[in-house]
Amino acid sequence: MWDTSRNMPDRISRIIIVGGGSAGWLTAGVIAAEHRVDPQAQQPFELVLIESPDVPTIGVGEGTWPSMRATLQRIGLSETDFIRECDASFKQGTYFRNWHTNSGDTYSHPFTVPTGYADTNLAPHWLALTDAPKFADAVTPQTALFADCLAPKQITTPEYAFVVNYGYHLDAGKFAELLRRHCVEQLSVKHVKANVSQVNAAENGDIQSVTTDSAGEIDGDLFIDCTGTRSLLLGEHFEIPIQSRQAYLFNDTALAAQVPYTNEDQAIQSCTHSTAQTAGWIWDIGLPTRRGTGHVYSSAHISEDEATAQLLAYIRETAGEKAADDVAPRKIRFEPGHRRKFWHRNCVAIGMSSGFIEPLEASALVMVELAAGMIAEQLPPTREIMDIVATRYNQKFLRHWNQIIEFLKLHYVLSARDDSSYWQENHAATSIPDELSEKLSLWRHRSPWHPDAGAVDDLFPTPSYQYILYGMGFRTVPRHTGSPRQDQQQRQASELFQKNATRATQLQQALPGNRELLNKVREFGFQNL
Ligand SMILES: Cc1cc2nc3c(=O)[nH]c(=O)nc-3n(C[C@H](O)[C@H](O)[C@H](O)COP(=O)(O)OP(=O)(O)OC[C@H]3O[C@@H](n4cnc5c(N)ncnc54)[C@H](O)[C@@H]3O)c2cc1C
Repeated sequence: MWDTSRNMPDRISRIIIVGGGSAGWLTAGVIAAEHRVDPQAQQPFELVLIESPDVPTIGVGEGTWPSMRATLQRIGLSETDFIRECDASFKQGTYFRNWHTNSGDTYSHPFTVPTGYADTNLAPHWLALTDAPKFADAVTPQTALFADCLAPKQITTPEYAFVVNYGYHLDAGKFAELLRRHCVEQLSVKHVKANVSQVNAAENGDIQSVTTDSAGEIDGDLFIDCTGTRSLLLGEHFEIPIQSRQAYLFNDTALAAQVPYTNEDQAIQSCTHSTAQTAGWIWDIGLPTRRGTGHVYSSAHISEDEATAQLLAYIRETAGEKAADDVAPRKIRFEPGHRRKFWHRNCVAIGMSSGFIEPLEASALVMVELAAGMIAEQLPPTREIMDIVATRYNQKFLRHWNQIIEFLKLHYVLSARDDSSYWQENHAATSIPDELSEKLSLWRHRSPWHPDAGAVDDLFPTPSYQYILYGMGFRTVPRHTGSPRQDQQQRQASELFQKNATRATQLQQALPGNRELLNKVREFGFQNL
C-alpha cells in the first residue's frame, strides 16, 4: 500500500478542536486512538484541543448507550478506571412511569433485543396472548433485573464484556476530566488552556486559524467546534443557524439537581427512571455516590415555579423532606433543534454546538461517539476530499437527527394523557412528523420487524420501536389466517416466552446487585478483556 497523500500540499495534518467538554475530549480520544499523533513523524499528524479556562462545561449528561463501552475500549481506557474515576454505574435501559395514562402505569425500554429476534418476531404472538405479562417482561429477561436493581455482569466478567447488554450512568464533570488526562498523557493530544477570541478566515473562505487570549494564534487544517451551545465556529463564524424542531418536541428547559441517597447502602437503580409530568418529565439517575435528577419541560406550557414545585414534590417523595429542602436546581435553557448543516468548509460541529433535543433517550453522547467515529474513520487525506466527506457526513447526521425526533415523538404520540394542553397539543396532527404517522398506520396492521430497518447504522433499531409501541398500549391487528405456518410460529413463540421467563429467574439468582458489584469493582477491579 502506498499513501497517495504523501507530499500533497493540502494534506490534512493538523486538527484543532475548540472546546473541552465531553464532546471535545471524546472526539479527541477517538481520533487520536485511530491516527497516531506525532508532530515529528515523516507525515506529521497533530491534534490540538483548546479549552477555555473560564467557560464551564454544561456538566450534565449522565446517561449513555451501550455503544460507550466500545468507544471507551477504542480509546484505550480501562473499564475499572472509568468506573472508579467517573462515579459510573451500570445502565440497562429506561423505565417509564405515568407516560401512558398517568395512573401509575409503567413500561420499560431495555437495551437487550427480544429473545430470538433474528428469526422470530414475538410481537404479534404476544399481542395474541390473553393475560400476558408486559411486552418487555415477556420478551427479555432484562426488565426483571431492573426491578431488583441488579447488575448486568459479575466481577469475573471481563472488562466491557456483559451477561446482559449495558451502558452507563456517570458524573459528566469527572468524565471530561478522565478523558482529558488520558488524551494528553496517553494519546499525545496537545492541550491549550485559552479563550478563543477570534476566528480568522483564509482567502478561500475556510478557517485559517483561531486567535486566543493567552496562547497566540493557532492554525489548522480541520477545525472541530465543540464549544457547546454557543457554537463559536460553525454558528457564530459561519452563521449556520439552528433549525428549530420545537414544532414536534416542545421541551426547551431543564432544572437539574443532585440528590443524596437516604443511606449509603441504598440500592442503585440499574436503569434511568423517567416520570411524566403535566408539561414534561423528570429523569432520575443512580450513581454510586448520589442520584442525578431533573425536570425537562416546555416553558410555553408551565411556569418555572410550577416546574420547580413538581421536581421538589418528586424529590420529597423519593428522597425525603430534607433532600427537597436542601436541593438547589440549576436551570438550563435550550433551543430544541440542530444546525442546518454540521460540516461546512473545513469546520464540523460536534456535541451541543451541533444541536440538542431533550435527553429522553440519552441520545446526545451517542451522536458524539458516531460523529467522532466517522471523522476518525473517514478522515479526509486532503482538503479536496474534505468536501466529499462533508456532504456525506451532513446527509448521515441529518438522517440521525430526523430519527431521534421521530423516535422521541413516538413516546408522546402514543400517550393517552389528556390532562393538560401540553399532552393535548402533543397529539395534534401538525406536531407529528409525516413519516411517523405513516409508520403508525402501517404498524396497526403488522408489527415492526426487520423490513422496517432503514439503514445498518440506524440509531434506534426496530426492537426499540417495539418496546415503546407495546409498552404504551399500541395495538396491532395482524392478518391471521390460521395457516399451518402461523400455527408453527405460534408454538415457537410460546417456547421463546417460556425460555425468556426461565432465563429471567436464572439471571435474578446469578447476578449481584448494582451497588454490590460497583463496590467490588472499586476494591478489586475487573479482569482485562
Ligand atoms: C438537561 C440535560 C440533560 C442531558 N442528559 C444527557 C444524557 O443523559 N445523555 C447524553 O448523552 N447527553 C445528555 N445531555 C447532553 C450532554 O450534556 C452533552 O451532549 C455533552 O455533555 C457534550 O457537551 P459539549 O461538550 O458539547 O458542551 P459543553 O460541556 O458545554 O462544553 C463546551 C466547551 O467549550 C469550551 N468553550 C466555550 N467557549 C470557548 C471559547 N471561546 N474558547 C475556548 N473554549 C471555549 C468550554 O470551556 C467547554 O470546555 C444532556 C444535556 C442537558 C442540557
